[in-house]
Amino acid sequence: MQHDTPDAQPFVLVTQTARIDAARHGGRAKCLQRLVRLGLPVPTTVALPFDTVIMIARGEMPDMGALLAHFGPGAVLSVRPSSQDPDWGGPGTVLNIGLNPAVEAALAAKLGPEAAATLHLRLVETYATQVARLDPEPFADAGTPAAARAAYADEAGEPFPDDPATQLAGVLRSMARAWESTSARLLRQAHGAPEDAGLGLVVQAMALGLGPGASGAGVVQFADPTTGDPEVTGRYLPQSQGRAALQAPEALFVRSDPRGPALEDTCPEAVEALVAHGATCRTGLREEMQIEFTLSSGQLSVIDAVRAPRTERAAVRIAVALAEDGVIPRPAALLRVEPQAISHLLHRSIDPAAVRDRVARGVPASPGAATGRLVFTAEAAQQLEARGDAAILARRETAPEDVRGMHACAAILTERGGTTSHAAVIARGLGLPCVVGMRDVRVDPARRTLTAGGRVLAEGAVVTLDGAGGELLAGAPQLLDPAPGDGAQTLLAWADDARDIGVRANADTAQDALNAMAFGAEGVGLCRSEHMMFEAGRLALLRELIFAEEDAERDAALSRLLPLQRRDMRAVFEATAPRPVCIRLFDPPLHEFLPATREGLLEMAEALGRPVSEVERRIAGIEEVNPMLGMRGVRLAVAFPRITGMQARAAFEAAAGARAAGHDVPPPEIMIPLVTARREVELVRARIEEVAAALRAETGQDVPFRLGCMVETPRAALRAGEIAPLCDFLSFGTNDLTQMTYGLSRDDAGRFMSEYVNQGVWQEDPFRTLDRSGVGELLSIAAERARAAKPGIPLSVCGEHGGDIDSIAFCREQGFDAVSCSPFRVPMARLAAAQLTL
Ligand code: PEP
Ligand code: MG
Repeated sequence: MQHDTPDAQPFVLVTQTARIDAARHGGRAKCLQRLVRLGLPVPTTVALPFDTVIMIARGEMPDMGALLAHFGPGAVLSVRPSSQDPDWGGPGTVLNIGLNPAVEAALAAKLGPEAAATLHLRLVETYATQVARLDPEPFADAGTPAAARAAYADEAGEPFPDDPATQLAGVLRSMARAWESTSARLLRQAHGAPEDAGLGLVVQAMALGLGPGASGAGVVQFADPTTGDPEVTGRYLPQSQGRAALQAPEALFVRSDPRGPALEDTCPEAVEALVAHGATCRTGLREEMQIEFTLSSGQLSVIDAVRAPRTERAAVRIAVALAEDGVIPRPAALLRVEPQAISHLLHRSIDPAAVRDRVARGVPASPGAATGRLVFTAEAAQQLEARGDAAILARRETAPEDVRGMHACAAILTERGGTTSHAAVIARGLGLPCVVGMRDVRVDPARRTLTAGGRVLAEGAVVTLDGAGGELLAGAPQLLDPAPGDGAQTLLAWADDARDIGVRANADTAQDALNAMAFGAEGVGLCRSEHMMFEAGRLALLRELIFAEEDAERDAALSRLLPLQRRDMRAVFEATAPRPVCIRLFDPPLHEFLPATREGLLEMAEALGRPVSEVERRIAGIEEVNPMLGMRGVRLAVAFPRITGMQARAAFEAAAGARAAGHDVPPPEIMIPLVTARREVELVRARIEEVAAALRAETGQDVPFRLGCMVETPRAALRAGEIAPLCDFLSFGTNDLTQMTYGLSRDDAGRFMSEYVNQGVWQEDPFRTLDRSGVGELLSIAAERARAAKPGIPLSVCGEHGGDIDSIAFCREQGFDAVSCSPFRVPMARLAAAQLTL
């Protein structure tokens, strides 16, 4: 190859001033140059850029003589891959290139005959299997270089190549071609590599690690891989090369350690030098690095450095420590942590090293992992809980009765449903692992079995649900406890300083609100007041209200509901104070609240003091074909203004009560769900104002409140200009807005969602990630019209999208004031929002 510009050199000696960049020579070559610049003892290194490797794969070799001239005669070399991103992998390293009988003899004088023979033998073995691609068996027990060379000649039909240039060319060619193989391509593409990702190669003079005195190789890092705490951890194996120490149980610790012998005990100066190099790397490379090193008769060489491996928890701690030490600025620390990692830290997870016996897959709906016994009814879950056992509740889909089972279980899975179905929304609120839309699962509550992929699991079987990965596993793989560590709090405080969009939480109970505040929410953006009635015994009361056929009956139910609502709301206000709470008026889609089981019917009959047959008749009377589009939300308020009256009074009295007890409660926010027209808002507003006026007259005290509308029907979005003037704020209910814009049932979409996404009809599940082009356009139109009619009106999103990173980005682009998401997603949303500003 003839090239005349310096940039087109087929290879380049890695010096302080050489022109090397990661995009042409790969990350490893670039990192080695940085180590050279930092003055670390790196052996002579030559980098081959991507272009050269492509030529080599085609059979066109660069000038081997010129390449070897960088190392001098008799050098022993290694070749390592240098892909642009280390995560994209690459072919395995080849060591000891250059060994032949003459070099062995020369090394024997320096290192002793045994070490020299070992190096020679290793080269023949590696070359035979990795380059000549011969069967490994004849080489495994060859024992001597002579025997291995004879085996090579036998197997390959030609003598082992002794010429170092031939050996090196063979190694380079095989590595270049391995990169082009289909399996390597698929593997790296799975790690996000582009189709044309290039491979660089690094040829390095070897520090041998074998021979007299302190000789060996090891790996060291300066932050604990699990916690990220500053600590020298590492392994060193005398008389070894490469990363062998990591596989050898007999390897030494690097730092003195009560658990066994350490390099520091015999060679403290080497450890001292390593610690100094670690500190140099940390500041110089602005990253916590893992160093690969070799000792040759006590002389230390740094042969490579990579980003130190770390758990998500350690990643947070390391990023914070780097910023606290002034090595990186705070914004860089914020960008170094994946928002999802923060969320994972708050939940239990399956140990990545554990064996996963997967039974079935579904839609991951709420993160975390839990192990327990499989149950098929809420009662069974409650019984297990009473015995102190964990239950994994499996349902076809969840019904109102299941909510108490969900409170009692450790995780829930459903055959049907999507990311905003009943089960998913409730599980996220409770912080329970949940997988929905498990299409290959058949839940048979009558037989109490779950069938998937030919396997039948009966009630009581021990299973594990991975809510983050969307998988049901048989058995009890090792779980890791949540471990946010100290770093997370610091990082999130920095995130709060950086972000410019508010993050509130969807919280239905005082406990949810407390969680939300602990997670740093700025208030409650959505309190689904009908969910307050999920608690044991209360559902019947809400049902009585739904069932009421006459005003008298309705009033009786309302007068019993009032104190409950008042107490619940006050608890939420107090848990959230001094931050605001947005109470949403009742929005009970009937199918989520009518009894669905025999037990439910019986409970209802008892509560009403009527026969079951009457309950059945009344259900038949109000049952809807399409409850999501039926008598719910503001329709209930328009049809039965007394309900709104009760809720408004409960909210006002709750706020006054909390204030009287010394809590700094801001004016309650009251939000109307499922609005479609201005007139609905006028009616509800008038009703609420009536109640406020009455209370003012009763108590002589001011009754401040803020009224908002949910924009969650397409019509409300289009008519936002008429609705906004009657409101103090608007909040987009993107769950329903997505459901109605697509004409896509929240509870049934799981059945075909994966086909739609796999076939590219939709890029993503629109219930998970906001559909910018459709639903997003409605949001933009609504925002524009609302702002034109009422400049500065606060806008937010409180659908499940409020906790999705891409959707938060959309909200920020639109200049929305806040997002509101389930409490456990609040920390992730805080970090994601901060990253958007950087
Ligand atoms: C919504 O529709 O986005 C919403 C927040 O309300 P819900 O999920 O209770 O219907
Ligand atoms: Mg809704």
